[in-house]
Amino acid sequence: MPAIVSRGQRFLGCAMRGKLVVGNWKMNGGLRQNDALLAELRVGWAAPPTRELAVCVPYPYLWQAQAALSGSAIAWGAQNVSEHAGGAFTGEVSAAMVAEFGCRYAIVGHSERRALYGESDAVVAAKADAALAAGLTPVVCVGETLAEREAGTTEVVVLRQLDAVAARLGGRIGAVVIAYEPVWAIGTGRTASPAEAQAVHRLLRRRLGSVDAAAAEVPLLYGGSVKADNAKALFAGADIDGALVGGASLKADEFLAIAHA
Ligand code: PEP
Repeated sequence: MPAIVSRGQRFLGCAMRGKLVVGNWKMNGGLRQNDALLAELRVGWAAPPTRELAVCVPYPYLWQAQAALSGSAIAWGAQNVSEHAGGAFTGEVSAAMVAEFGCRYAIVGHSERRALYGESDAVVAAKADAALAAGLTPVVCVGETLAEREAGTTEVVVLRQLDAVAARLGGRIGAVVIAYEPVWAIGTGRTASPAEAQAVHRLLRRRLGSVDAAAAEVPLLYGGSVKADNAKALFAGADIDGALVGGASLKADEFLAIAHA
């Protein structure tokens, strides 16, 4: 199922720009607190036609998100999928399994996966491929570490990460969502300035635009300590199509305020 939101816009047949805001719960949650959070989101999301809201939850709670959000305007998804279709991969979860729970999205290549679980660019590309093959929209994360930024290699790093996925997907790159998440801004309270974020988004947009017209329209999300009080300024960036939100997605008020920003 393709993402509802893409640049350019297909909303209501008009040419409006849309925003996509995706929550990443990380390894947080519990049955009772999820019930409360999902109910608050469902009640509180006014679903403006040019905005889409989604939550990516831990695997055990996919059924709960499906039950709570089915029939609402809020989409849900997973935070990772295996690059393999199935077989002897103990502990892994395939994209097809995730898709059975009505997911629209699967985050792949989050910096925590790259850093803590050694996911290479090639593995991330294979995961994006697996997600697409299962009918999911991969939210592919790219971003530089603080050391890489300070070394002046931000552009090289994010383009290398993007190119690995584009090389694997070919013409299907237009069906993904990209999240630019500077590693130094994730969970640190330190946000890239709107100008810093926009500069990288523009770079990514140009690279995607060199593939084809569909790739040029790929939604580009910013992630890294997005809060209600900085979302509006970030969203003003010409190439910033929304946000991937970690910590703030665990608080309904804050997450909804970001999505409405
Ligand atoms: C994330 O985990 O993708 C993220 C952006 O986290 P945070 O918003 O907490 O920085």
